[in-house]
Amino acid sequence: MLYPWQQSQWRQLQQAMQQQRLPHALLLTGPNGVGKRVFTDALARSLLCEQPDAKGLACGSCHSCKLLDAGNHPDFMLLKPAPPKTSKSDNPVLSIKIDAVRELIERLSTTSQMQGRRVAVIEQADKMAHAAANSLLKTLEEPGEDTVLILHSARPHLIPITIRSRCQKLAFPIPERRLALDWLQQQGVSDAENRLAQAHGAPLLAVDDEPSGKTVLDAAGREAVANAMLARARRQSALMYAAELAKLPKYPALSCCLDWVSDIIKLKTAADTPATLVNAAARQSIGVIAAQADSARLFRFYDGLCEAIRQESIALNPQLLWESLLISWDEV
Ligand SMILES: [Zn+2]
Repeated sequence: MLYPWQQSQWRQLQQAMQQQRLPHALLLTGPNGVGKRVFTDALARSLLCEQPDAKGLACGSCHSCKLLDAGNHPDFMLLKPAPPKTSKSDNPVLSIKIDAVRELIERLSTTSQMQGRRVAVIEQADKMAHAAANSLLKTLEEPGEDTVLILHSARPHLIPITIRSRCQKLAFPIPERRLALDWLQQQGVSDAENRLAQAHGAPLLAVDDEPSGKTVLDAAGREAVANAMLARARRQSALMYAAELAKLPKYPALSCCLDWVSDIIKLKTAADTPATLVNAAARQSIGVIAAQADSARLFRFYDGLCEAIRQESIALNPQLLWESLLISWDEV
């Protein structure tokens, strides 16, 4: 399966394949929620399938496709970030360890089990520990005959340049708005325009039941952040929401907060020009807060929030983090 906005990238690779010049290392980049994982899956299947269709998509019925479906294709390898073995945290820092990369290299050093291609996928390649990334360099250059490595990442700038320069990049930008809206409507998403705006244009983040893991908030989470950010419009303290926010996945909750602050700054600084707001439905409350807020404190809060986002992977007590943020929000 492919999404409608992935056709040109697919054609590009199919052409390369037909001309026998498919790169042996690919890096798929683009924000969360545009379907890099689905594309990677379709590509891996296509590369391993014994009789792909006219568009190059896997047949789904050959021996190779069946082994993949069953999760035991001997020439398919998947690496993804995992929590530390000893971690007891509910929200552990995930990474791809050197041991896992070494195991992958080891497997690639043997010959293909099924006399066809071999495919190795590295999900969220930016989560490779530094040593793990280094150990992969030689394999990226010479992965062996008929072997394709597919890396993907929403934060490619965090991948060492030595890795990036050995991969051919394939970009998956935010899709054209019309395509995304049509697709969301086909999925039965009500209020597609607002949902897409809140998801910054990433269609998969605008779908309610998308198994999003830690990248996006569900409806209840978004409401909790909205309650805290709009507390003062109801003459409440935001601090009372700290415990609720501390239970949310940290990165998307902080990003959602940043959307609210950006909306408030837009109305504060450009009240006379119609600004596009992420939370357009709450324009009136945002206007009330914008009118009351002190500009210097507003920008300081914005900076503090950006800093918290930069340090989001640092294990910090979430309750303390949110208490400190919401205390300063009450003072803006
Ligand atoms: Zn097949």
